[in-house]
Amino acid sequence: MSQAPKYQRILLKLSGEALMGEDSYGINRATIDRIVQEIKDVVDLGVQVAIVIGGGNIFRGVAPAAAGMDRATADYMGMLATVMNAMALQDAMRHAGVVSRVQSALTIQQVAEPYVRGKAIRYLEENKVVIFGAGTGNPFFTTDTAAALRGMEVGADIVLKATKVDGVYTDDPKKNPDAVRYHTVTFDEAIGRNLKVMDATAFALCRDQKMNICVFSIFKQGGLKRVVLGEDEGTLVHC
Ligand code: UDP
Repeated sequence: MSQAPKYQRILLKLSGEALMGEDSYGINRATIDRIVQEIKDVVDLGVQVAIVIGGGNIFRGVAPAAAGMDRATADYMGMLATVMNAMALQDAMRHAGVVSRVQSALTIQQVAEPYVRGKAIRYLEENKVVIFGAGTGNPFFTTDTAAALRGMEVGADIVLKATKVDGVYTDDPKKNPDAVRYHTVTFDEAIGRNLKVMDATAFALCRDQKMNICVFSIFKQGGLKRVVLGEDEGTLVHC
């Protein structure tokens, strides 16, 4: 049976924490290799994949480690952390035979090419994975917002937010065994029920621009592929 993807071009938001595995910080090699395998599975379906990677496993502007620092300085450090993750992800992809390019919102030309929208789109058309580092390039933002922004800029069909939990629940599933997953929810319902989907800026941007979001777990084997095939996986937030 041929499997036709529901989405031709996706923007995948990976948090920095996703790369930590069971470690308390940094990048866990086995974990990153597993994530790359999940990505390869959808690239092999012919899906064009753009990725925004976070940096929380290394540095977060609002974290205690940054307490007492000038916020903008801490945020620039956070953005540099995302570039390190982007490089690690590209390296792991190369080992797995997945061709990718890193584009950074901050100019660090020795390690990554600068973000150029048209070039990013061309890479996607060539079926190269594009990894966006340095978030939006601006302090006081998050990589969730970068994901929403880049998703719109490259014309992605959907923003996929990879988390540890396989969707949005009625309550915290770790604390409440009766919590149930929302299969689909509208933007307005998510607001009305005070559901945490993405940070407020990213959520507002997606809602305004009618960019659907799917929250799913990157740790469930085949989860990303099921989302891309339009199966009942994660929570689809739609207009
Ligand atoms: N950051 C920023 N502007 C951006 C994106 C990120 O200043 O556009 C900084 C911010 O300090 C943030 C850190 O980079 O805390 C890491 O990003 P984020 O917390 O979004 O990573 P994640 O939680 O996804 O690992």
